[in-house]
Amino acid sequence: MIAMRITINGRAIETEEGATILRVAHQNGFRIPTLCHMESLIPTGFCRMCVVEVQGLENPVTACNTQAMDGMVIETDTPKIRELRKEVLQFMLVKHPLDCPVCDKGGECDLQDYVYEYGIQKAEYQVDASVKEYKTYSTPAIKYHPNRCILCSRCIRTCREIVGREVLDLKETGFDTRVEAVRPERCISCGECLAACPVGALTENISSIKGRVWQAKRVSTICGYCGVGCSLEVNVVGNRLIKVTTKEGLGTNNGVLCVKGRFGYEFVNSPERLRTPLIRDNGKLREASWDEAMTYVSTKLREIKERNGPDSIAGLASARVTCEENYLFQKFIRAAIGTNNIDNCVHLCHSSTVVGLATTLGSGAMTNSIEDLKEADVLLVTGSNTTETHPVIGMLLRNRARFHGAKIIVVDPRKIDLVEEADLWLQPKPGDDVAWLNGLAHIIIKENLYNKPFIDQHTESFEAVKGRVSSYTPEFVEKITGIPKDQLIRAARMYGSAKNAAILYCMGITQHSKGTDGVKAISNLALLCGQLGKPGSGVNPLIGQNNMQGACDMGCLPTVYPGYQGVALRELRDKFESHWEAPLSEKPGLTVVEMSEAAYEGKIKAIYIMGENPMVTNPDLSHLKKAYAKLELLVVQDIFLTESAQVAHVVLPSLSFLEKDGTFVNTERRVQRVRKALNGPEGARADWEIICDLSSRFGYPMNYGNPEEIFEEIRKVTPQYAGITYARLESGGIQWPCPDANHPGTPVLHKGRIVRGKGLFVPVDYTPPPEVPDRDYPFILSTGRDYYHYNAGSMTRKVRLLNEMCPESLVEINPSDAEKLGINEGGRVKVVGRRGDFVSKVKITDKVSSGVVFTTFHFSEAPVNILTNAVLDPQSKIPELEVSAVRIEKFKG
Ligand code: SF4
Repeated sequence: MIAMRITINGRAIETEEGATILRVAHQNGFRIPTLCHMESLIPTGFCRMCVVEVQGLENPVTACNTQAMDGMVIETDTPKIRELRKEVLQFMLVKHPLDCPVCDKGGECDLQDYVYEYGIQKAEYQVDASVKEYKTYSTPAIKYHPNRCILCSRCIRTCREIVGREVLDLKETGFDTRVEAVRPERCISCGECLAACPVGALTENISSIKGRVWQAKRVSTICGYCGVGCSLEVNVVGNRLIKVTTKEGLGTNNGVLCVKGRFGYEFVNSPERLRTPLIRDNGKLREASWDEAMTYVSTKLREIKERNGPDSIAGLASARVTCEENYLFQKFIRAAIGTNNIDNCVHLCHSSTVVGLATTLGSGAMTNSIEDLKEADVLLVTGSNTTETHPVIGMLLRNRARFHGAKIIVVDPRKIDLVEEADLWLQPKPGDDVAWLNGLAHIIIKENLYNKPFIDQHTESFEAVKGRVSSYTPEFVEKITGIPKDQLIRAARMYGSAKNAAILYCMGITQHSKGTDGVKAISNLALLCGQLGKPGSGVNPLIGQNNMQGACDMGCLPTVYPGYQGVALRELRDKFESHWEAPLSEKPGLTVVEMSEAAYEGKIKAIYIMGENPMVTNPDLSHLKKAYAKLELLVVQDIFLTESAQVAHVVLPSLSFLEKDGTFVNTERRVQRVRKALNGPEGARADWEIICDLSSRFGYPMNYGNPEEIFEEIRKVTPQYAGITYARLESGGIQWPCPDANHPGTPVLHKGRIVRGKGLFVPVDYTPPPEVPDRDYPFILSTGRDYYHYNAGSMTRKVRLLNEMCPESLVEINPSDAEKLGINEGGRVKVVGRRGDFVSKVKITDKVSSGVVFTTFHFSEAPVNILTNAVLDPQSKIPELEVSAVRIEKFKG
């Protein structure tokens, strides 16, 4: 960059070439008013509020889209400029109803502020716009008020440039010009248009007059839904959440949210929230006091432990509660109960990542950062419906492809939304991942596209993989997967010749009984091309739930203590025994699916579930129900009477993430502060308080005054967290490892050196999934998530708006299959598998190929996991949730 000198309002400024006048002015403390400008949008100069005078130019210029040039002399606030801005504002008021007293934006409206600042007393040029009856843009979440609109186009550009949907555009000309939804079918009600609107033209359509900005307390916290971990501000009046706002530049999401993050909070006020403990009596749950419930649970657990030993008890921690709560929960199970039977839902979604990447790279987490995906030239996205499951990352991918030339390769059995941005879409069958991944490696080696210096310096066992993939010719892979060989070769060349290439994947890869092999094959590919340890590269598993990474980091796993420190290692056991002042078991514990199997066999007598709902999320639900029925004690701690709580012996009401303090860790290993915004329902307690009470009653006292005290203990025993404090988290999240107080955190793992020392190539082979279609069950059933709902649906299904937009389960079926079966759009079908059946509405779509059907698992009325296969991956113990063989019958009920 070349330095240059300009003068603003008489002050000489040295700056770098390439910046706009607006940026230089703002960077140097000069205020220039703007309305249509946003940092993350391409500047247009539409509104003309940012006009400035430049010496030597006849007319004023717009500062937002005029480059600063060497020697420029600029005036930002002359009488002429002020008059021009007044004129601009007057034209914006032409149709404005001047209804500030009833406008939701009152008090935080840029137009209102500028009109006041520029001393405008009266709208000079008003026309009567009341006669115009437009059909205006509105969704269940968003409402457009055309007469308040200043036509700055921020909403239109945000929808195009940030969200990548292009729903909105300007219609008509002159006084009739307005914003309209020209592609309403593409709207995902993310509310980004609403957030971008500087005035009150776009407002929430949910309910109005909820409270003024000056009445609201704004609490910064983290979204409690997916693993992106978006920062948001919860606006609270009294004890009512009135809305969620963000700021451009805020958090890892840069102020962007999806529909769940922005509108998905009605559940906190649901009348169905649990308010009192429940105990099962004569087959029915009845209300109990906390004292009675806690005495009951602690007495029962003690009895079971004395009679059957500590390994007859198991705990299931939660991807939804805070790190501090997960830490205490595993401590209770290990130090108080005396067993390693502790797990979280990772063994239903990403344990293959943890095992696979720990083996090959030495760390089982996302290698890179969300932000540094911007550096990637090629993004290989597989088994991840990113725009629906991690919407804000999905928006980023669209933006990179549309405006920055990044190439996207999608490999997915389903024609997911991201396919429309992709340069290449490969469509294998579900469960064929190792075959096509080995095929890519084969071509990259054959065409000499691999990174020999990186392999020599940073890896081991290359020859073993080279030998194994030699038989995975494009022809052979085509035969297995159906991917045309030319497309496979094209994908290999794109990935193999990229400067920076990142792989993103999710449960389409991991939720298989061969999931760990799929992850190892991905790792082989990255090692082969040296795509590790630098921005824009890496192996990037996208974690589904908001704090699953945190639950794993906190040791809610059957083989490791916090920080992935193995329970089998004597020195580590000694360390934790001395910190926790209790003898610890060296025997590895059971995973979530193994726990239920052991319950079925009568080996596990008690299961304590904190904030999970296995009766919706586990495979083979009928079997699970029988297993739970054999337990002497099933405790469920949750905010609602979930399907799992309904079969429990004791239910303990807890608080949601909006009602307590703590930390979450997002998919990129970023530890972030969660802050209490609301008081929860009277009678419910924070999970950490419940555990402390229970543990103390059980005879292992836990005395913590607040979550920060728990976090201080976590830091002491977890090397990756040693340098992280609540005080440091005040200025934003920190990515582990962060070994000391001066360490900035680690956005990119494996920089300069693979964590394991050398990256390990592991040869893996393709084998077909355990269930393949046959005459009786001719379809492959694959499962996933929907944009509007989250996991077991216990929160999102309590949000009216989200239910309105996605009210029920749909089974997707290819048009040719529907025709053969005589099924019509919207008709009902019975999906029958080897373990049961369920009924659902049908959606006929070419998103799925012939022979494959797809549905989501959010709806307990259509419990797809009745059919899924509990067979486990022997390495990671993850069940085969992605592939089951089924038949489709017309439902006549
Ligand atoms: Fe929340 Fe995920 Fe949406 Fe962000 S992308 S707002 S974390 S659900």
